[in-house]
Amino acid sequence: MRIAVLGAGAIGVTTAHCLAADGHEVVIVDRRERAAMETSFGNAGLISPSDAYAWASPDALKMAVKSLYRSDLGIRYKLRLDPALWLWSLKFLTQCTHAAAHRNTLKKLALLTYSKERVNAIAEETGIAYDGRKAGILYCFRSAEGLAAAGRHMSILSDNGIRLEIVDRDRLAEIEPVLAGRNDFAGGIYSPDCQTGDGHLFCNRLAAWNAEHRGVELRYGTKVERLTVESGRIAAALTDRGPITADAFVLALGAESVFLARKVGLRLPIYPVKGFSITAPFRDPGRGLRMGLVDEDRLVAMSRFGDRLRAASSAVFDGYGTTHRTEDFRTILETVRSLFGDAVDYDAAIYWAGLRPMTPASVPIIGESAVPNLYLNVGHGHVGWSMCAGSAQLLADIVGGRTPEIPAEPYRAT
Ligand SMILES: Cc1cc2nc3c(=O)[nH]c(=O)nc-3n(C[C@H](O)[C@H](O)[C@H](O)COP(=O)(O)OP(=O)(O)OC[C@H]3O[C@@H](n4cnc5c(N)ncnc54)[C@H](O)[C@@H]3O)c2cc1C
Repeated sequence: MRIAVLGAGAIGVTTAHCLAADGHEVVIVDRRERAAMETSFGNAGLISPSDAYAWASPDALKMAVKSLYRSDLGIRYKLRLDPALWLWSLKFLTQCTHAAAHRNTLKKLALLTYSKERVNAIAEETGIAYDGRKAGILYCFRSAEGLAAAGRHMSILSDNGIRLEIVDRDRLAEIEPVLAGRNDFAGGIYSPDCQTGDGHLFCNRLAAWNAEHRGVELRYGTKVERLTVESGRIAAALTDRGPITADAFVLALGAESVFLARKVGLRLPIYPVKGFSITAPFRDPGRGLRMGLVDEDRLVAMSRFGDRLRAASSAVFDGYGTTHRTEDFRTILETVRSLFGDAVDYDAAIYWAGLRPMTPASVPIIGESAVPNLYLNVGHGHVGWSMCAGSAQLLADIVGGRTPEIPAEPYRAT
C-alpha cells in the first residue's frame, strides 16, 4: 500500500519507519525543512515510563486555581475567550476524579513501557546514535513532605513493573555527583530504567535511514492545506506543492492535527500546551549531569545530550503561539545556574518554545478514524518522545491487521 504520513515529528517519523518495515511505500510530508523542527525539537529529552501520571487528577484542580493568581508557577492557565480551551477544560474536569486518573495513568504506563523497548529496538536495528543515555532519571524534591507525598503516590507505578527507589540526600549525591555537597534537595525518587536522548537527532537520522534503506520519500517544505474526500475516503492531501495521493493517510501533525481533522468532520480533543526549554553547551563537561534530572518543586526537567544540557519547564494554556519572552526562562535559568554555575555556556544557549498536543485524559489517540483510510496518531501530550516508537508500532499493527503486542483499545478514537 502507498501511505502518506502527515507530519515529521517524533510520532510521524517513527510511524513511517514501522510502516516501511512492513513493506509499504511510504511518503512523509512536513512543512518544515527537516524532521522534528516543532514540538519534537526542544523537549526535555526524557524517555520515561515513570512520567505516566495523567495530568488530570484531583490535585490538578487545586493547581489550576492557583495558576490563575500566581505568576511564579510553571503552570499558567489563562482565562481567555477561546471556546476550544473551554471545551477542552470541561472534558479535562471530567477526568479529574481518582478513578479516571488511575485508569488514564495505567493506559499511559502500558504504552510508555512498550515504547521504551521499541525505541531501543529501533536504535539497535538502525545503529542510530542520538546522544542517548541509559542512566535513569532522578526526581528530586526540595522538602521531606514533598518527597513523602510522592512516595505515597508512586505505588501505581511500582505495582505495575516500574522499578523505583526512594533516596535520601546522601544517596542522591552518590547516584548523581552533580548533587554532591549540596542541600537543595531533601531526597528523591530514582527511576533506574528510564533513559534520555535527543529526539531531534533521532528523528532526523531515522528519517534519513529510512530514505536510504527503505526508499521512504521525504517531502519536507510541504504544507498540507486540506484533505480531499471522494466516495467517503481520503483521495489526496492537497499541499502548497501540489496534491499527494495515497491509499491511506496517517495524521501525525501534533497539536495542529485538529485543523486538518476538522475539515473532514473529525473533532479531536487536543489543546496546545506551551512549554519552554534552553539548550546550552557545558563549558566544563566534567561538571555536567550523568542522568535525567527533574526538580519536582520548580517543575524543571533536564537531560544531558553529549556535551549539551537541555532544560525544560512550564505548561501554559494560551493558544497556538510559540513566541517567548525573557521571563519565560527565568525558572529554568535559576535552576540551571544554581546546579551548574559557570559550567554552562549561557551565551551560547538556544531558547525555544513548543506546544504539547494534550488530550483531556493525557492518553493519545491511535488507530482508525471515522474516515476509513485515515489513521490517527495524535495527542501524545507531555510524553510524546517517550511514547513515539510504541505508538508507531501499534499503528503499523493496526494498519497491517495484526494483533498488537499491547491492547489497542485504550487508545482508540471515541
Ligand atoms: C517543554 C516541553 C518538554 C517536553 N519534554 C518531554 C520529555 O522530556 N519527554 C517526552 O516524552 N515528551 C516531552 N514533551 C512532549 C513531546 O515533545 C511531544 O509529545 C512530541 O514532540 C509530539 O510529537 P508529534 O510528532 O506529535 O508533534 P510535533 O513534533 O509537533 O510534529 C508535528 C509535525 O507536523 C508538522 N505540521 C504541522 N502542521 C502541518 C501542516 N499543515 N502541513 C505539514 N506539516 C505540518 C510540523 O512541522 C511538525 O514537524 C515535551 C514537550 C514540551 C513542549
